[in-house]
Amino acid sequence: MIDMKKVKKTYRSGVQALNDINIHIGKEEFVYVVGPSGAGKSTIIKLIIREVKPTEGSVHINGTNLDDLRKKQIPYLRRKIGVVFQDFKLFPNISVFENIAFALEVIETPRDRIKPRVMEVLDLVKLKDKARYKPRELSGGEQQRVAIGRAVVNKPAILIADEPTGNLDPETAWSIMGTLEDINYWGTTVVMATHNSHIVNHLKKRVIAIDSGNIVRDESRGAYSYEA
Ligand code: ADP
Ligand code: ADP
Repeated sequence: MIDMKKVKKTYRSGVQALNDINIHIGKEEFVYVVGPSGAGKSTIIKLIIREVKPTEGSVHINGTNLDDLRKKQIPYLRRKIGVVFQDFKLFPNISVFENIAFALEVIETPRDRIKPRVMEVLDLVKLKDKARYKPRELSGGEQQRVAIGRAVVNKPAILIADEPTGNLDPETAWSIMGTLEDINYWGTTVVMATHNSHIVNHLKKRVIAIDSGNIVRDESRGAYSYEA
């Protein structure tokens, strides 16, 4: 599903963000990527969505070497990968329904297929009763569930979540985890970069720990840190 082999990434500034990264993530796994600020977590995510290219080594998604992708093919890759951010990145002035439908409209889904699929997703993220609300009328947790809905409406093989609970209170963060677990249960691979040690230590999953551009631990059912 996701394969990184001997990946090095040096930014133009000369900063070496990743040194020698080897990661294999299989279908339907749920993986936390942890590590201090500046460790290289976002760079790993940007490599997966082909926002940046490795300086050395290779990144394969579903067997496709991302280095071989032409610019025109990148949107097709992005359809296989849903992305959720800490700050939601919703359109504030259109409804929850339209925020989610938008992801289907841009890929020219037939009109009559959009509504049933959006309703299905609203059910999954438990927002059926908020379909007509605008994001600014919702709580942070509800907004994040809209963002998750938008990210999965195309049924991507992979969901990337970059600090999805970063702006949420602990109770709300747990409900977001419930939603991500449901999505994983229905067959989507989930990769989540996080600083939330409480969640990582209590909701045990595979943990890939990064420090200074290197993988320092990769454990199934791992913890946030050695001390935890
Ligand atoms: P994390 O997500 O773990 O905080 P990042 O992957 O964002 O880490 O950053 C890893 C290193 O690369 C840091 O030293 C950061 O300052 C640097 N970096 C990230 N993005 C860029 C960029 N676009 N240009 C130059 N340096 C960058
Ligand atoms: P859902 O929204 O699907 O009902 P929940 O929010 O109840 O999901 O919980 C999601 C996951 O987090 C579950 O595995 C649950 O056991 C766990 N969980 C929920 N709250 C806590 C908590 N306060 N401490 C530890 N684990 C929790």
